This record gives sequence, structure tokens and C-alpha cells, in this order.
Amino acid sequence: MDPTIRLLRDLVAINSVNPTLVPGAPGERAIADCVASELRRSGLDVSVDTVADGRPNVVGVLEGRRRKGRTLMFCGHTDTVGVAGMADPFTPAERDGRLYGRGAQDMKGGVAAMMSAAATVAQRGLDAGRLIIAAVVDEEHSSIGADALVKTWTADAAVVTEPTDLQIAVGHKGFAWVEVSVEGRAAHGSRPAEGRDAILRLGRVLGRLEALDRELQGRPPHPLVGTGSLHASFITGGRELSSYPDRATLQMERRTLPGEAESSAVAEVRAILDALAGEDPTFVGTAAPMFSRPAYEVPRGHEIAKALADALTRAGGRPQVTGASFWTDAAVLGHAGIPSVLFGPGGAGLHSTEEYVTVRDVLLCRDALVQLTEVFLG
Ligand SMILES: [Zn+2]
Repeated sequence: MDPTIRLLRDLVAINSVNPTLVPGAPGERAIADCVASELRRSGLDVSVDTVADGRPNVVGVLEGRRRKGRTLMFCGHTDTVGVAGMADPFTPAERDGRLYGRGAQDMKGGVAAMMSAAATVAQRGLDAGRLIIAAVVDEEHSSIGADALVKTWTADAAVVTEPTDLQIAVGHKGFAWVEVSVEGRAAHGSRPAEGRDAILRLGRVLGRLEALDRELQGRPPHPLVGTGSLHASFITGGRELSSYPDRATLQMERRTLPGEAESSAVAEVRAILDALAGEDPTFVGTAAPMFSRPAYEVPRGHEIAKALADALTRAGGRPQVTGASFWTDAAVLGHAGIPSVLFGPGGAGLHSTEEYVTVRDVLLCRDALVQLTEVFLG
């Protein structure tokens, strides 16, 4: 068996479900041990940095023979989402050129590819510059791993090996979560003159939000990632059948585009609330930011995208440049000053009950990353 695939199977067999997503899950400690010893065995200089209790980032460094030169980083996350509904999530199974198991595509395939690429480069020896392999925790929840990584480490460019079907993704959307509260006045259900119905008033907001979503999706699309959008995620309100509800709350998500500020989501909602208050002075609503992450786009024309395209061609692939809809750690790296692209193997079923990665893609991803060290580090 190819050693890259053997490594991938080892990684899939380790339960590394994110413990913030799934309380009681084991987290990244065991997989970090495996990654660290594997990188050490390949000859990298390894440091383990505990980001939260039982949740270590692992960073391996390979120095070139000539110390001067540029630094290239490969980065991937070691956590996975939960396994509810999966029969045998941690037993890797290979069928028809696919490797099945939780995390096979998201993103242990990419992690195995970058680790194996480093092993190959270490064996050959790096002429110049520096290669950094970063295996970080918690991408599936709030990216405390990537946040910690960029406080200590930097690079001239990075490849985040999230699954992209071997396309080179040079940007992705961001997101913002907003909580909207509308006030009413509690009263006996038989006394309409005294009550103010917070839920129906929140309905006014929902109507405007739906119109805003249509308007966002009607704007000219960003060439890489399409349009912005929003949706209502949770709604709560009401106390009992026979009373006017005094409060109704909506938690919503706005997906943002490169160039849109994280704060634009709250500002849009506040504009709607102000307009509604202008029409009816008894309308009272507030909007507050909950959490957000910015969209990201590698600086136009930055050479990492071109270098990776050349590397993929050398490895026998057909480069295609694209954007991704989902948020990734590339934004954390990118906004910390490390121009970053996404490039990883194809497959299907990420976050669903049947997840697989295409074995051939893992190998091609690895080969392209090996080539990239030559193209970019020289
Ligand atoms: Zn992922």
C-alpha cells in the first residue's frame, strides 16, 4: 500500500471529533500525537503547542540547506465534525478508489497529503528556504488552532489542504451571525388594546429580511464566490397560548463576500429596524453581533496561485482556479498576512453520514505539493 494512504487510514482510524461541537468527544490529542511522531520520523523539527486543554497544534519545520530563502506553509485541521448516524466512522474502508470514513475528505486526506509531501521533500533535502507543516485544532468550531498558529508562525505563502476537488481556490465567503430581538407587551389574550405582539412584529422584520436576501442574491455576483445571502437560523418567542408575547428573538446568518465588512450584516439589520420604527413609533427592535469571520481572497495576481498551478501541471494535473463558498482557516492565515490558497483532494459527503475521499486525488495532491516546494522555494 502507498505510505500516504496508509497514513491516511491511520488518521481516519483516530477519533478526533471536535469536543466543542460534540460534548464529551475526544478532540485532537491522540491525532496530534500521531502527526507529531510521524513528522519527527520524517526528519522535521516538531513543536507541539497546546491551544486548549487536550487540544494541541502540531508544527513541523524543515530547513533548507541554504537557510536564506522564502517560507512556505502547508496547513490543515485535525478535528472532524460528529459521527451521529454513521455505522463505522473510524474504520477506514477502501472501495472503488475511494476511502470511506469520518474525516476522510474533511480533511484527513489533505493532512495525509501534506505530511507525505513533507516526508518526500525531507528525504530529498530542501535546497533553500523553509517548509512549515501545521496541523491545527478546532477548524470545525471556532478555529482556535489557526488563531494560535498565526501568533507564533508566519510564512510567505500557504496552502490550506481543505477539499477542493484539486481546484485551486483563491478566495471564499465569510459569515456573520446576528441576534435580532423585538419587544412586545405582555397582556391577556382577550385584551388587544393592552397587548403588543412581539412575534407578529418580528414578522415585519422577517418580511424585510426576505426582501434583503432577494436583493443580495440579485446583485452582480463576485467572480469567484457568487453573491451574498442570509437566512433565518433560530426563532424563539411566546410564553403561553392565551397571552400576548412580550419578546421574540431571531438568530440569523449572513454570508459575506470578499470586500464586505463583517459589520455590514448588523448594519443592514439595524437599517431595517430603524425603518420599521420610523413607520410605527411603538416598534422596538435591536440587533447585536454574535460571531463573525471575514471572507478572504488572496491578493489578485499573487504568485502562490500561479506557482501551485505550475506545480500541479508538473505533477500531471489540470489546474483550475476557483472560489469556495465555505469559510476556512485560509482567512485566518490570510488576514494575518500569509497569502493563502485552498487545494485538496476530491470526494463527497463531508459532514454527512457517508464521507469519502478519492484515493488518486490524495496522491496527486501530495505530488503537487512536493512540486510546489521546488517551484516556490527554488
Ligand atoms: Zn475542513
